[in-house]
Amino acid sequence: MTTTKVLISGSSVAGPALAYFLHRDGYDVTVVERAPDLRDSGYAVDFRGAAFDVLEEMGILSEVREHDTKMSGTVLVDEEGAEIGRLPAEAFAGELEVPKRELTRILHRITAGDVAYVFDDSITALTQHESGVHGSGVTVEFERGGTREFDLVFGADGVHSKVRQLAFGPHAGALRHLGLSGAGFSIANHLGLRRSGILQHGKDTAIFLLNTGDADRLTVSLSFSTASPALDRRPRHEQEQAVRAAYAGRGWQVPRLLEAMSEADDFYFSSTCQVHLDRWSSGRIALVGDAGYCAAPTSGMGTSQALIGARTLARALASAGGDHAAAFAAYEAELRPYVAENQALGQETAVTMFGGGGSGGGSGGGSGGGTGPADAHSA
Ligand SMILES: Cc1cc2nc3c(=O)[nH]c(=O)nc-3n(C[C@H](O)[C@H](O)[C@H](O)COP(=O)(O)OP(=O)(O)OC[C@H]3O[C@@H](n4cnc5c(N)ncnc54)[C@H](O)[C@@H]3O)c2cc1C
Repeated sequence: MTTTKVLISGSSVAGPALAYFLHRDGYDVTVVERAPDLRDSGYAVDFRGAAFDVLEEMGILSEVREHDTKMSGTVLVDEEGAEIGRLPAEAFAGELEVPKRELTRILHRITAGDVAYVFDDSITALTQHESGVHGSGVTVEFERGGTREFDLVFGADGVHSKVRQLAFGPHAGALRHLGLSGAGFSIANHLGLRRSGILQHGKDTAIFLLNTGDADRLTVSLSFSTASPALDRRPRHEQEQAVRAAYAGRGWQVPRLLEAMSEADDFYFSSTCQVHLDRWSSGRIALVGDAGYCAAPTSGMGTSQALIGARTLARALASAGGDHAAAFAAYEAELRPYVAENQALGQETAVTMFGGGGSGGGSGGGSGGGTGPADAHSA
């Protein structure tokens, strides 16, 4: 029997997790990642429900736990920085929270010996065929040149997925913006926070300052109401300009933060969006994680969902004995209720915690959605 060759686009959470399970099940796996190296995201992510089983099944739960940020809570402040309340650690950190870069690094390490990783490249074209010189499969063209054949292709390339775009068309309706965008970056810890946060949120803005363990650094998130996610695709200077406009005339830490933003070398910008599709696969191509069903950072469920999604997909493929169409249908049927619950939570939290928007470039949020699909606790 010939080995099934699969290509996964995206090496963050869903990508390497799916690579782990598919390699274990005997597939020949290649992962292509657009970034030149593993991404050093400045924020922390948390785990809930059946995500712990997935980490356990991959044999990395205790290693992931070693990076627990052990957050102690968040102080709520008014416009002048005076304390007006407190939120417990669980409000943002879930049952376990770790810097995202640590999770990505661990997932990469446990798969790197078995999976072919290609960094600094991206898929530019996907052509599916059920017959012809190459038999059945997908012809994949790459940005850095070259064409290769795969049996199956998976998009684990995040909320703005290129695979989704290529396989599902312009997918204009897939992105549902929750009304906020935001910038994130880190600065020196001039406030002396220790594993704690400060949150100031008003009607149209939310400032979140967070120390997750690196004593010297503060993670900064400056979110604001926006009409569309269009800024995500604009150059940095335009994104910064929009942040400045949203915070013009504001006091407390704002002038200092805006100044630091321009100098930050880890600046990122993102809008709070969800992905809604009426199917997650097209022929031999399927989506996993944020690419297919992002629930937004406000759900606090994105990382759990990416891990659980990867395992559910791999299990469905294993059960279907080579029938990818049956496997993709089973994957969707099983995961959709869980995703729907998380997306509802993401939307609700955007409204209740951020005055009508979402956390944008923020910290994540939500106090936990579904625990996992129906069979998530089975071995
Ligand atoms: C600011 C912020 C805070 C968050 N906080 C939380 C939290 O507290 N808790 C939580 O659970 N979740 C949180 N999330 C969400 C969480 O990060 C995601 O849900 C999770 O990372 C999804 O994983 P993924 O692998 O599906 O996608 P991503 O992590 O988005 O990874 C996609 C990968 O694909 C790569 N890629 C993109 N385009 C291409 C291409 N064309 N070709 C090849 N590769 C490509 C990217 O470089 C990236 O490595 C937060 C997100 C943000 C932005």
